[in-house]
Amino acid sequence: MFKYETHMHTSECSLCASSTPEEMVRKYKAENYDGVFVTDHFFNGNCFVPQDLPWTERVERYCLAYEKAKAEGNKIGLDVFFGIEYGNGAADFLTYGVDKQWLLENEKIMRMDIPDYIEYVKSCSGMVIHAHPFREAWYIDRLRLFPFQIDGIEAVNASHGDKRFNERAMLYAQMYDLPVTAGSDAHSTTDKWYGGGIVTEEKITCPQDYIRIVKERKIAALLDREDR
Ligand SMILES: [Zn+2]
Ligand SMILES: [Zn+2]
Repeated sequence: MFKYETHMHTSECSLCASSTPEEMVRKYKAENYDGVFVTDHFFNGNCFVPQDLPWTERVERYCLAYEKAKAEGNKIGLDVFFGIEYGNGAADFLTYGVDKQWLLENEKIMRMDIPDYIEYVKSCSGMVIHAHPFREAWYIDRLRLFPFQIDGIEAVNASHGDKRFNERAMLYAQMYDLPVTAGSDAHSTTDKWYGGGIVTEEKITCPQDYIRIVKERKIAALLDREDR
């Protein structure tokens, strides 16, 4: 069995995170994960990258977090994959199967409505998962759901202290027969580190492996904060 993180942040890119890509990768290795997806807040979220840079520089700067994590992962033996947490008015969308080249060519994603964004990513062989759709927090003033477009639901977000947020997400996924995932949403190796993620029977060697496992509903276990 293999253990993966699908949702985490680094201080290289996320304003709300406090551990470097290298520190995060070493923490996941120490916690016996086989791999992680780095999913920092994109430019439309709580992102560290200055908004006034040219698009190419912004993308280069954003991808540094993943590149640093990947280099450290290669050194210590942890698989590191690229993802983004695309934000839109306090709704967040974990996006997999896209890469730096795709971002460089697609500045237009900043101007898309959420349904159009999801359909566009899908048309580019990517996958969009609605992160913590029922979280309640000071920065969220409404819930917006996209059951007709979304590829899947983050039914377990291990950072939630209130169990109802995940219970509602699972019910939502069941109501619309959508695939489910789990992630920690970790922002540091210490105070905000809760564990979480998924267990698979199959080794994930690239984002497309993960996309297939989600769509075929082959995730063996969703891990919550007490499952460390
Ligand atoms: Zn954050
Ligand atoms: Zn997040």
